Amino acid sequence: MRQAAAEFARNILRLLYPKPCLICDLPEGGAQEPFRHGLCSECYRSVTHDPYPACPRCAQTTGPHADTAHGCAECRGFPFGFDRVIRLGPYAGKLREAVLRTKHLPGEGLADLLGRAFAECQRPALEAAEVDLVVPVPLHWWRKWTRGYNQSEAIGRELAAGLNVPLAPRLLRRVKWTTQQVQPTRAARRENVKGAFRVSRGARLGAKTVLLVDDVMTTGSTLGEAARALRAAGADRVVVAVLARK
Ligand SMILES: [Zn+2]
Ligand SMILES: [Zn+2]
Repeated sequence: MRQAAAEFARNILRLLYPKPCLICDLPEGGAQEPFRHGLCSECYRSVTHDPYPACPRCAQTTGPHADTAHGCAECRGFPFGFDRVIRLGPYAGKLREAVLRTKHLPGEGLADLLGRAFAECQRPALEAAEVDLVVPVPLHWWRKWTRGYNQSEAIGRELAAGLNVPLAPRLLRRVKWTTQQVQPTRAARRENVKGAFRVSRGARLGAKTVLLVDDVMTTGSTLGEAARALRAAGADRVVVAVLARK
């Protein structure tokens, strides 16, 4: 009886205050299907359904018959610093919209939910990576302070929970302010981020596989530099997980 009363109260509340979809603002009460992780069914489907095959090494979209055993035409032979990349999808459409929304407060709820959706629909690839811990790419303290939170940490928290491994949000520190990666060449981009990260003093990552988490991967220079810092601290393998690949 009490349960029925609670359910009744919940339904009344839902009618009075229908929660909008975190991506398209459709009110939950007006949707035909129930929401999943705060997203309407259309948004959930479109952010969790990656329509294209992707290169396992750099997560770039490839043709359906491309040979990617040793990377795609764009990344083959290039020393990234990490071993492979798992993406939720390409940086386009609703996923792009969602990522942009997480950068503006109050976006933490959305970043968490996207992380949960990522953990759910990429579970086989994430589990196959056999990671020991999850490390989010840190923001420079000033950027974190102005934004109010680090979206990569919110995503990483959900991936760590989904994989049942620890999250190490303070293991890696960003010690250098870097500008947006607009440099034209790989060498110039690498130079821009060189020395940007440092592993906490005394931390040793002997023979561990780290899942390095970020919201977006563009050229891979920033993630590569973070991966190098983790390797210098003894990490055996670094696998990258990003919501969206540009
Ligand atoms: Zn929606
Ligand atoms: Zn590739």
